[in-house]
Formats: sequence, structure tokens, C-alpha cells
Amino acid sequence: MKRTQLLTKTTKNLPADETSKNAQLLIQAGYIHKEMAGVYTYLPLGLRVVEKIKQIVREEMNKINSSELIMTNLQPADRWQETHRWSDEVVDIWFKTRLKDETELGLAWSHEEAVINMMRGQITSYRDLPVSLYQFQAKLRNELRAKSGIMRGREFVMKDMYSMHATAEDLATYYDQAIEAYKRVYDRLGIGDDTYVTFASGGAFTKFSHEFQTVCEAGEDILYVHREKNIAVNEEVLEEACEELKIDKSELEKVKSAEVGNIFNFGTDKSKDMNFTYADDQDQHQHVYLGSYGIGITRAMGVIAEKFSDEKGLIWPKAIAPYQIYLVSIGEQGSREADKLYQTLTDQGVEVLYDDRDIRPGQKFADAELLGIPLRITVSDRLVEQSKYEITNRKTGENSMLTFTELADTLGTHV
Ligand code: ATP
Ligand code: MG
Repeated sequence: MKRTQLLTKTTKNLPADETSKNAQLLIQAGYIHKEMAGVYTYLPLGLRVVEKIKQIVREEMNKINSSELIMTNLQPADRWQETHRWSDEVVDIWFKTRLKDETELGLAWSHEEAVINMMRGQITSYRDLPVSLYQFQAKLRNELRAKSGIMRGREFVMKDMYSMHATAEDLATYYDQAIEAYKRVYDRLGIGDDTYVTFASGGAFTKFSHEFQTVCEAGEDILYVHREKNIAVNEEVLEEACEELKIDKSELEKVKSAEVGNIFNFGTDKSKDMNFTYADDQDQHQHVYLGSYGIGITRAMGVIAEKFSDEKGLIWPKAIAPYQIYLVSIGEQGSREADKLYQTLTDQGVEVLYDDRDIRPGQKFADAELLGIPLRITVSDRLVEQSKYEITNRKTGENSMLTFTELADTLGTHV
């Protein structure tokens, strides 16, 4: 992509009410646009990051035999009444609306009820189980406070997965596989070392649910961690979890964190509420066991922006950077050479953002840093004379002058 074709410009102007670092950086660099508090548009650059995060999650969910689908955001009230979650007193983040004929609808903030409603028409026998389904979807939540940028949206992208099983043991096995899949996701996103599987409230069949909490100053949660034992507990269940784990609170370190995922073993609770059954091998009706597994896709993006940035801007991990290379041309000869390099690299599938604008080099360098692209390649008149390319690492600041062959080696391309 050429900068002259990219619709967004970098800006120093911020909406007056935007106080969160992740949104400030992402707005300045042209990744997102703010409509209002907690409501953001993902611009072409931002969308590329979202899609890369989704692809990592997709690959890991496919590995545990889950199938992708997409469900509707419009949800009739009746099925939520079955589980007593329609009431605003029970769920305080509903957005609700009505059809012209006055039928009440909710805008999806989660999909357990919708999945069960759909699957009770599909699953009849134990032979139909287990099943695991997932989707990436824009969830809508009428959040009271939305001051954390894209870490707390009123509309945000979630990966939600639901697994259905004939037995508690089968669900428990799958639940453990999901924990491993989640760990792989956070490793690949570059936040694995700072992300803890955390004991949290909200379990049904099991006493606790498991949250995936990433240590982060801008996070809204308080976590108690034991780094050596690799144990983490959410503040809200601290006493109870310490008792269960036989550890003393004083052994734990208190840190701020952001919940980037949450998984639940619901047992048969929801299936009982909604009469979701299958026939076992004796033709007896049994309730289906349900697991529910969420990942905050756009929240994870916000957390990464917070954690991997400096005074100059964003520093994306390679795996989710919108482009791998920021190509800067300087001077006439430099531009001719950069045009060629851009063509060669893009032909080979290397993701290059080419700053072909007729502006000062300093501005191009500043943008390369603000945008946080992992590598910058500079081609100038002077460098062309020396048959060299300058390559700069955004994260380490390391700089080297390479010949064309060395450059190709570094990038792993064949030229
Ligand atoms: P929180 O406690 O932060 O409000 P939650 O426990 O209500 O979140 P879940 O229902 O567990 O959220 O949703 C699954 C995942 O979706 C969360 O782990 C989080 O990563 C993400 N998420 C939840 N609410 C938001 C939001 N308002 N904006 C962005 N991501 C969110
Ligand atoms: Mg949660």
C-alpha cells in the first residue's frame, strides 16, 4: 500500500475527552476514529490489526475442532427470559429495541441463549455430541463507564465459542484444551509472558471461572499473582480462592491487569433452564453440558497498544503489525529505486507500506515510528550511490546498511 493511497493521515489533534493512551496513540496514528465514548471505527490500518488477531485466534480454535459461524445480533426476548437474563436488573448492560409490531429485541451482548436456542433444534442424540462453535462478532454493551479507549467499548469485537458435551468429563477435557489454545493465542500475540490464567468468579459447575488477565497499568482489574507458582487470582474472589488453593494472601503480589479472555464451565445449568437435552444410548433424555469461551479481540489490541509503545508511538509485535515494512523514499533517485523495491517486495507477498509522499524525510521517519511498523527501509539518493539500503528496527532502534542481497536475506525473500 502506498501512503498516497491510504485514506488516513497521522494527526496531533485528539478528541478533548480521550484520556486513554491506547486510543490516543491509535487515533494519532490513524488506526481508529472515535465516534463517541466507547464507540470507535476501525480504519483500514486498524482493521488489518484486528484481522491479524482474529486469524491467530481462528487458527487456534480450529485446532481444537471448533467450527466458525456467524450469529445474528438481533435477539428476541423470550429465550433470555428462559434463563432470567432479560431483566435490566439482572443484566445492566442491555441495549434493547423493538420491531414495528412492538416485539422486543435485545442487541447481543453475549450468545449463550442464542446458541442453545439454535442447537436444541439440531442436537437430538448423544451421537450429535460433542460440538464446538465460535464466531467473531461485534458485541454491544451499554457500559456505564467507557474511559479505557478500545479496551472498553460499547461496541467491540469478541471471539465467543460454545462447546456442548454429553458428559461432565468430556466438557472438562475440552475445557482444558481450550485453556491450552488460549495460552497459544496470547503467546502468539506477544503477551504470553504477562498473561495469567486467573481464578475468577462466575463459575457454575466449577466454583470459579477462568479469566486470562494481562498485567497492564491501564487495566481495570486488580490481580494477585504468585509469579513462581504461576498462580493468579482476581481480587473479587481473593479470600475464597486463597482458601481453595491453600495459599496465603501475603505471598501474592498485587498488580493492575486487563481481562483479555474468560472461560466458563456452565455444567448443565443453562441447559436445564432452556430444556436443552439429548437422548443417551439408553434413549433417556439428558441435559447437555455447556462451556463458554470469550476473547476480547479489540481489547487485546488495546492492551498491546498500551504495553508496546514509547514516546514516539506504537511498537507492534510482528505477528499483528498491519504491515511488516515501512518503506521511505528520499530524493529523486531514491524514489525510483524505492518504487522498484516496493514492486519486488509486494510481488513476493511482503506487506509493505510505502511512504511515497513528497514531504520532508523527518516527517516520514516520525510517521514510521508513530505507526509502529516493525522494520523501516530507507532508500535515498546517497544510499543508491553506495548500492545500500538502510534498515531500522522499530523496537530496538538498531540500524544497518545492507546490500540488496543482504536485505533479501534479512527479509527471507528471493530476489
Ligand atoms: P469486564 O469485566 O471487563 O466488563 P466481562 O467479564 O463482562 O468484562 P465477558 O462477558 O467475560 O466480559 O466477555 C468476554 C471478553 O470480552 C472479556 O474477557 C473481555 O476481554 C472482552 N470484553 C468484555 N467487555 C468488553 C468491552 N466493553 N470492551 C471490549 N472488550 C470487552
Ligand atoms: Mg469476564
